[in-house]
Amino acid sequence: MRKLLIAANFKMYKTISEAKEYMNRFLPLVKNVSDVDIVLAGQAILLPLMVELADGSNVEISAQNIHWEDEGAYTGELSSKTAKSFGLTYTILGHSERREYFGETDETVNKRLKNALKNGLKTIFCIGETLSERESGKTFEKVEKQVKEGFKDIAVEDLKNISIAYEPIWAIGTGVTATPEQAQEVHEYIRKLLSTIYSKEIADSFRILYGGSVKPENAKELMEKADIDGALVGGASLDPEKFHKIVLH
Ligand code: PEP
Repeated sequence: MRKLLIAANFKMYKTISEAKEYMNRFLPLVKNVSDVDIVLAGQAILLPLMVELADGSNVEISAQNIHWEDEGAYTGELSSKTAKSFGLTYTILGHSERREYFGETDETVNKRLKNALKNGLKTIFCIGETLSERESGKTFEKVEKQVKEGFKDIAVEDLKNISIAYEPIWAIGTGVTATPEQAQEVHEYIRKLLSTIYSKEIADSFRILYGGSVKPENAKELMEKADIDGALVGGASLDPEKFHKIVLH
């Protein structure tokens, strides 16, 4: 059985006081949840505070991106080695906003993935198609390319530290959610692909999350689907009570 993973992506939201207030309200709400892994991804500058506040709780803290080198002359980037030294356990990689606005490619995401795994960070690896790719029947082709190129030369023993987040770009921040059937169809495809590339055993234990306008009202029907193992949540995660409802769905 795959344990659900439900992750919040705060993107570039929250000041220090807002982050403190969030943690103070959210942590008590979920303190008895043991059947879901809960992760919060904040802006880089908030991460040490979030790690400190989450210490001893059942909530893990994630970066939203990390660089592919341990250190170096890369102004504005975040090192996974440094992140790990602060107690972070997760990073998101390949988010469509990184791919769209910051020139991230399958190749750079692959390099970042290798570095995250090397430094012991678990990864939420984002993939997904645009609306025009979906409308022209290219969804499977796109996600297959993103998985094959993104996972190039990743050691089989590291796969247990990766979850895929299938996030159709047309559903991110738009209020339009993929129907549970649309999401399930792609999740099933991704699982079969993992089975072909690796093995059925690896594919069966691999967590595949859905992301794209998940909210308390649609979380249950999405996560009831056979191949949906959790969610990556943007907008609706910014409110601790709403995100708590998604965790409990
Ligand atoms: C995301 O940023 O990963 C996301 C899914 O955002 P939203 O829930 O707002 O669509």
